[in-house]
Amino acid sequence: MAYGEFTHGIVKDEKNVLFLNLDYGLGMGIMIDQEIYYGKSGFAGEFGHIPLFDNDIICNCGKKGCLETEASGWALVEMFKKEIQNGTTTALDNEAGTPIILENIIKAALNDDVLAIELVAKVGSHLGKAISILINIFNPELVILGGALAETGDYLRLPILSAINKYSLSRVNSDTAIKISNSEIRSGLSAPACSSVTGSYPFRKAGLTYRSAGPTERHASTVFRCISNFINPSCIIVGKTSSRALSKDLYGQQEMFRPCPP
Ligand SMILES: [Zn+2]
Repeated sequence: MAYGEFTHGIVKDEKNVLFLNLDYGLGMGIMIDQEIYYGKSGFAGEFGHIPLFDNDIICNCGKKGCLETEASGWALVEMFKKEIQNGTTTALDNEAGTPIILENIIKAALNDDVLAIELVAKVGSHLGKAISILINIFNPELVILGGALAETGDYLRLPILSAINKYSLSRVNSDTAIKISNSEIRSGLSAPACSSVTGSYPFRKAGLTYRSAGPTERHASTVFRCISNFINPSCIIVGKTSSRALSKDLYGQQEMFRPCPP
């Protein structure tokens, strides 16, 4: 899906583009200077597992607090079920046999169901905060919203834009257009096609090195987890302050850290 958008979708002359697959899970395709970026081992773009929330919801990856726990199709379904249990009314008639699944919640939103619209907006707001981080890091020309959640169009896009205005640097986000994916590509390719670009693509060694931006020791571990998820670098060069925080586990990849040369 990401590859389709990059090669014959809504990407025209843009060179730096992020494609977000917003489905039950989240994925990201990264195009930098017109080349798809894979990271060291093909895992660049694990956008759904950035540790954005201080919650106790266990993510599909086994950790907790990931973006996916509160801003994904899976999270939307869980929130929807909880609201129904709490007595919130909805036009999606579960008792008549309509299952509470992502596709039906999306249809309900498009048919003016208030609960579905409210929860899609909540997901959009969380996604927008995460996209702000992406915009600050990548300074892309274009962010494409794809996957099933993007079917909700402006119900999702407008809360995302609002959160981007709130959380990202205006001098950076003014460079970035946020567009809904080309519907032909959305319908013609499945989610696994996106994950083949963002996740399990045959391993490629990018051989890139990134210098950390000097986070405080207290936050270094979280910052490195974010960097690792986004960019999947082959090594990260750290300064003295940051290196003290690296005794903490980072997916068992401490060997990727190298001390900053004097
Ligand atoms: Zn996760």
